[in-house]
Amino acid sequence: MFQIECPYCGARDEREFHFGGEGHLVRPGESVDDESWAQYLYFRDNPKGVHFEQWCHRFGCGTWFNIARDTVTHEILRVYPITDSRPERKSA
Ligand SMILES: [Zn+2]
Repeated sequence: MFQIECPYCGARDEREFHFGGEGHLVRPGESVDDESWAQYLYFRDNPKGVHFEQWCHRFGCGTWFNIARDTVTHEILRVYPITDSRPERKSA
């Protein structure tokens, strides 16, 4: 169990949030080949270290946002708006 710093509500228990999967996925255009479509649908980054994720404060303000989290220590390195681009792994 860990705490997540909602950008609008402050630090709250992880149980108030919903994990939305990997952040910064871009849906391919209409004329994409099958391999690229399958890559988008089924393959996800699974690093040992910094991972960029989407979370929603489901039992709070309902806002979606991104976090950069270390998958080994669960340390949250950065919380940032869903509209921001992905930070560099080293600076997360
Ligand atoms: Zn919130």
